[in-house]
Amino acid sequence: MSKQIPNQARVVIIGGGVVGCSLAYHLTKLGWRDVVLLERKQLTSGTTWHAAGLVGQLRATRNMTRLAQYTTTLFDTLEQETGQATGFSQRGSLALATSGERFEELRRGASMARCFGLEVEVISAAEAQAMWPLINIDDVVGAVFLPKDGQVNPIDVTQALAKGARNGGARIIEGAGVTGIRSRNGAVTGVATDRGDIAAEYVVNCAGMWGREVGRMAGVNVPLHAAEHFYIVTEPFDGMTPDLPVMRDPDNCAYFKEDAGKLLLGAFEPVAKPWGMDGIPEDFSFGQLADDFDHFEPVLEAAMRRLPALQDAGVQLFFNGPESFTPDDRYLLGPAPELENFFVAAGFNSVGIQSSGGAGRVLADWIVNGHPPMDLWDVDIRRMLPFQGNAKYLHDRTVEGLGLLYAMHWPFRQFETARPVRTTPFHDRLKSAGACFGEAGGWERPNWFAPDGVAPEYRYSYGRQNWFEHSAAEHMAVREAVGLLDLSTFAKFLLQGRDAERVLNRVCANDVAVAPGRIVYSQWLNDLGGIESDLTITRLAEDVFMIVTAFSSQVRDFHWLNSHIPNDAHAILTDVTSGMACLGIMGPRARDLLQPLTPDDLSNEAFPFATSRRIELGYGHVRASRITYVGELGWELYIPAEFATGIYDTIIAAGADTGIRHTGMHAMNSLRMEKAYRHWGHDITDEDTPLEAGLGFAVAWDKPGGFMGREALLRQREGRVRRKLVQFALDDVDVPLYHNEPIWRDGEIVGYITSGMYGHALGKSLGMGYVERDDGVDAEYVNSGHYEIEVACRRIPATASLKPFYDPKSERVRL
Ligand SMILES: Cc1cc2nc3c(=O)[nH]c(=O)nc-3n(C[C@H](O)[C@H](O)[C@H](O)COP(=O)(O)OP(=O)(O)OC[C@H]3O[C@@H](n4cnc5c(N)ncnc54)[C@H](O)[C@@H]3O)c2cc1C
Repeated sequence: MSKQIPNQARVVIIGGGVVGCSLAYHLTKLGWRDVVLLERKQLTSGTTWHAAGLVGQLRATRNMTRLAQYTTTLFDTLEQETGQATGFSQRGSLALATSGERFEELRRGASMARCFGLEVEVISAAEAQAMWPLINIDDVVGAVFLPKDGQVNPIDVTQALAKGARNGGARIIEGAGVTGIRSRNGAVTGVATDRGDIAAEYVVNCAGMWGREVGRMAGVNVPLHAAEHFYIVTEPFDGMTPDLPVMRDPDNCAYFKEDAGKLLLGAFEPVAKPWGMDGIPEDFSFGQLADDFDHFEPVLEAAMRRLPALQDAGVQLFFNGPESFTPDDRYLLGPAPELENFFVAAGFNSVGIQSSGGAGRVLADWIVNGHPPMDLWDVDIRRMLPFQGNAKYLHDRTVEGLGLLYAMHWPFRQFETARPVRTTPFHDRLKSAGACFGEAGGWERPNWFAPDGVAPEYRYSYGRQNWFEHSAAEHMAVREAVGLLDLSTFAKFLLQGRDAERVLNRVCANDVAVAPGRIVYSQWLNDLGGIESDLTITRLAEDVFMIVTAFSSQVRDFHWLNSHIPNDAHAILTDVTSGMACLGIMGPRARDLLQPLTPDDLSNEAFPFATSRRIELGYGHVRASRITYVGELGWELYIPAEFATGIYDTIIAAGADTGIRHTGMHAMNSLRMEKAYRHWGHDITDEDTPLEAGLGFAVAWDKPGGFMGREALLRQREGRVRRKLVQFALDDVDVPLYHNEPIWRDGEIVGYITSGMYGHALGKSLGMGYVERDDGVDAEYVNSGHYEIEVACRRIPATASLKPFYDPKSERVRL
């Protein structure tokens, strides 16, 4: 190990766990030799050393599964490449289901994994027992087996990655703690350490559970919190043979791993124990936490029922070590929006070993090329909001996060802890109206409304859930009368200044050089033509634009635009989300409802689609924008927060005659699916272009000055478009689509569903997803295929359409 602290490096990586070492390894693979990794104590001394070493590939989403799949490929060859043993053995893994719903979850996962060639077998309980002869299968209804899953020695694999990195030129320095982050003009310039300063172009925070503290040194929000994480290791006992696959019994919160004739039994208990509330002790190194047998006992008891031989096995080791968890159980990766060239890879939620290969590889790519190699929104640190760095919030959410990894991954499942955080001005009124709230980005959002006598609570399932009929009624109210939607959670920014139009027009693919009062729907593209954002822009005045985007993109979009304002431009971006509530009044009777409440003319002639005006309403003024995400006549009313409830009351009081109905987010989703309106983060991401997504109509190809991404888009337009976003309607109306289901065309997988929902006006189960072909996809190809969508290993015939199934000519929005 190098002892000298260099003065300078291209990249400084903070943290010598498996993640930091993987990043160093992958940076050198891309040819960057001037890489320095600093570890405060010794490599692996944080969390990595005590991991159980499970390496599974099946994750909740397609992209996360792809990354975990890469990790196994890497671990398979690393020993050969570096000469350092890794202990990797590919014995496969088994996941047991003890209920029909869990089996459906596993089968849905198996279908998703097959999309991109992951080997996975759906097997019976008896076949599972043949692989693990000691288990009791009385309650097992089925299982899946992944033959290429395995296990690894976490210390050895980290050392192998470190060796590979050193072979590629990286310097790995132990006993060097980072004490500060240097920056100038909003960009990182290096680090301070307890052994001197290092100037650096890039700094990467791979500090594991110290990641939040290291982030704070840089003014960067890294929301994670440590929790205690338990396993036991038994004495050797008969039947523990080296051919046993890793076994997960998620319904009993346990995993089982054979280790040198012993059993390692690990827990994912439903109520976890946060740790490190007063900071992590400076001397914590290869540390362990106190035993808590009472806490572990329920998992042990269930495990003894699964594996009766465990009852007679002695316990050799009771292990409790800390691991870091994030508010949504997904890790934090990518560039920090607060500080240029400062990247993060932390908060691995107990799957850091199996994620390390993929995360290190894509982050290295991101740093070297300036953009991620694939859609990484699932784990992108820019999804995190400033409030999520709050210590109490993190503590309270961590209680729930650990157990959720093995809990049912129900569709629409809501977090239960650390709520409420953000409520809109309408919250109490909506609650009185029966709202069942979900949580998203800290916001309490009404997902559906329970009629009188119905409890506003979820009863989850993979089939139709308890709110289906109520949401259907809300959906139909919007189609036939009028619905009121609380849209206050939209993120809203103002861009103001002499150069606002010039700045925005460079960033927007559409043309915002419009008259004040016009609304423009646009995408923001990266240099490859990928869609970074999907939003509406309203010109309020010559020098003022209002930008409205999804709650989830609040940090990301603000950062994207702000970082593309040239230094010499007169354009100032302000986030005004908190000051402005928003109501959507949507449906064919929206005008009948609103017109009597305002002296302003709401007729189609006076107030056409895609325009916006300040109008009087009730005792106040609101900005009414004629735009829709549900495909009907309607207005979004932007209301200064202090006027919000008064105006709400006015509308509700007047609404009875028009059949107004409170409408939740689930209905908004089913409404937009019928209209095939895209959802950023699902249907459109930074790896999809407007031409692929069917959004070419929103591209102003020839506007003066061009726009970011135009050249890439032109090249694509001149060549072949390899993929197109297509709508699907299932023949079997009873099977819900969620996302990630494979799309079959004439007996071949050609893509997967990016979002799905039941369309109540159409009476169909709907989905959309990209159909791909190397030779190009056009309307003829899409229309000539015979399609099936695979749901839980069953293929269901489907109709495909490039146009929306509902109101394909968009006549209803212009009524
Ligand atoms: C009981 C248990 C079982 C687990 N089992 C599995 C499993 O089977 N499979 C799996 O995939 N994952 C498992 N995990 C999770 C896995 O161990 C972690 O996700 C992973 O090790 C995290 O790696 P890391 O590199 O992010 O963090 P760490 O290993 O903690 O590395 C961070 C490093 O940063 C260093 N550092 C911190 N601050 C500074 C500073 N200021 N300057 C310099 N260095 C600094 C620390 O000393 C530390 O070494 C398990 C975790 C636990 C607790």
